[in-house]
Amino acid sequence: MTKPLLLKDCMAVYSDGKTLRNYDILINDTVIEKLEKNIQLTRKEAVVFDCSTCVVLPGFVNTHHHFYQVLTRNLPQAQNSKLFPWLVYHYDVWKHLTAEGIYHSTLAAIGELLKTGCTCTTDHHYLYPKGVSEDIPSIQFEAASRCGMRFSPTRGSMSLSKKDGGLPPDSVVQEEERILQESAGIIDRYHDSSPTAMRKVILAPCSPFSVTNELMRETARLARKKKVRLHTHLAETEDETNFCIKRYGKRPLALMEETEFIGNDVSYAHGIHFTDEELDLLAQTGTAVCHCPSSNMRLGSGIARVREMLDRGITVGVAVDGSASNDASDMLGELRQTLLLQRVRYGADALGVREVIKMGTENGAAMFGFGNIGKILPGWTADMAVFDMNRIDYAGSLSDPVAALLFSGACHMTRETIVNGKIVVEEGRLLGYDEEDIAARVNDLAAEMLLKSAQG
Ligand SMILES: [Zn+2]
Repeated sequence: MTKPLLLKDCMAVYSDGKTLRNYDILINDTVIEKLEKNIQLTRKEAVVFDCSTCVVLPGFVNTHHHFYQVLTRNLPQAQNSKLFPWLVYHYDVWKHLTAEGIYHSTLAAIGELLKTGCTCTTDHHYLYPKGVSEDIPSIQFEAASRCGMRFSPTRGSMSLSKKDGGLPPDSVVQEEERILQESAGIIDRYHDSSPTAMRKVILAPCSPFSVTNELMRETARLARKKKVRLHTHLAETEDETNFCIKRYGKRPLALMEETEFIGNDVSYAHGIHFTDEELDLLAQTGTAVCHCPSSNMRLGSGIARVREMLDRGITVGVAVDGSASNDASDMLGELRQTLLLQRVRYGADALGVREVIKMGTENGAAMFGFGNIGKILPGWTADMAVFDMNRIDYAGSLSDPVAALLFSGACHMTRETIVNGKIVVEEGRLLGYDEEDIAARVNDLAAEMLLKSAQG
């Protein structure tokens, strides 16, 4: 049996809206057993961490990502493109993705997320190149379990290729019958419905411009039959709105209504271009939004109306989005971007630090069906991020140490990250695998992909 962990004398613990000073946290097995001052251990020996210079936050929940894009970060030819041409350029590189590339990019993305305070993540993998015969979700679950990440990936899909009027090339789309069959299989093999599961499955057709309406509808029906959540990209760009109006005579959200892809079991990535009436509909139906500020700025997609969404009671989470449009998996950094970008749209009082932390923790956990995850409270699951504030980039900011994490700081790495009661980052290093080895392997695989793409 593993020893209890004692986080001793924490400078600040952020606990359900309150900042507690000089508290201890006792973690027993997977759960927070005590949150008190001066916890004295009597019978049990514990592993003790001195946290007197640290702020402890609940671990972040990342609600949207594309791990495989780690292999194509920052490609010069797509550095200055908006979404549609950016996608068209990348599809031709991504079609050379291999099973090994998926495994190592998953390790790298999860490693970066863990090191920046994220303890639960999804991944939207929708790319199934013809050359990959291995079972992609199984590869990802294996990598996530090696890293100790709480993982709720989506089984993504694309079925509408260029020849049928969609955006992706034929080489990366699948037959719809196969998509539905494989989606059901992944749920049966990996989905755990318990609130504190380490593995949950979500179904996620990629977007209105890469799948048919029939696949959207059938996927929604399958998910409800199997009691899993749904996710897709929606209202990311004006180009998407124009595509939907031209092809279907409807705006993207009307299309989602028509295909039953709306409701309190559904989340949309981005959600930038909604009208007032559409925001009201999201609120009425309990549909959630995953906000991706860095990607939205990077691709010039626009500023999501997060302030107005929260005021309407819409659940909004935070997400780093794929690694080719961020191009980082810096989760604490993404919370900072969330805080700042709303102020560009609505002014300096648009969004406060505590609201952003709630978005990045509880809201994300709730939208993916987790329970007792996202707060530091006795009885809750021990997912947390420990940041050492004894650094020059936080100097002078400690009048409000919790807010200092979003307002200050040039390095967003934790000292320790704890998932399900286990230390997965210690003294700033990932446990269980060598970071430099993974980085070197990813660089080799990225170069191979580019070479193949250049050869056609
Ligand atoms: Zn995305």
